[in-house]
Amino acid sequence: MLAGPSGVGKGTIGRALLAREPRLWFSVSATTRAPRPGEVDGTDYLFMTRDEFERLRRAGGFVESFEVYGQSKGTPRAPLDEHLARGSDVLLEVDVQGAMAVREQIPEALLVFVAPPSLDVLRQRLVDRGTDDAEQVARRLAEAEREIGLSAAFDAVVVNDDLDRAVDEVAAILEARRAGR
Ligand code: 5GP
Repeated sequence: MLAGPSGVGKGTIGRALLAREPRLWFSVSATTRAPRPGEVDGTDYLFMTRDEFERLRRAGGFVESFEVYGQSKGTPRAPLDEHLARGSDVLLEVDVQGAMAVREQIPEALLVFVAPPSLDVLRQRLVDRGTDDAEQVARRLAEAEREIGLSAAFDAVVVNDDLDRAVDEVAAILEARRAGR
């Protein structure tokens, strides 16, 4: 499970990992947020209306779900259970509270925290991404600081200073876990 602050590069690391690890299945999260340019329904997220999301949540359809920056995000239960039952390794990309909630239900989950080299670098990445206004960037940075404070609860912390190196590190952590079980 990859978690860490918004804009830290979890998505990029996750995609690189999936390209290298064909045995890994990516859990597509559901969200009420509108798609960003280039985002594909069913691949990047399952884009849902508030009603659809709430209905699924009330029916117990999420392993975890939270409000993240004013939008609902959640990990759909059925496809995750299906892949775990088949013995697949699954990759979840969630925020820190989501990661903690998944760990409660799946204690053997491997939690990797992706950290920015510094808050200044994270601020620059959020600004460069161009999807948030100044107020949202400030909010995401304050939240990032709080999340970094919780990173000690994770199995490993990987600093995303260099993408290839960070992906190598996550792949090695995964391999060590596979070897040890
Ligand atoms: P974004 O809107 O930038 O795609 O994501 C914002 C935040 O929501 C990120 O920190 C991301 O990890 C988190 N997120 C994405 N999917 C989920 C999910 O299924 N559950 C939780 N708890 N957080 C999620």
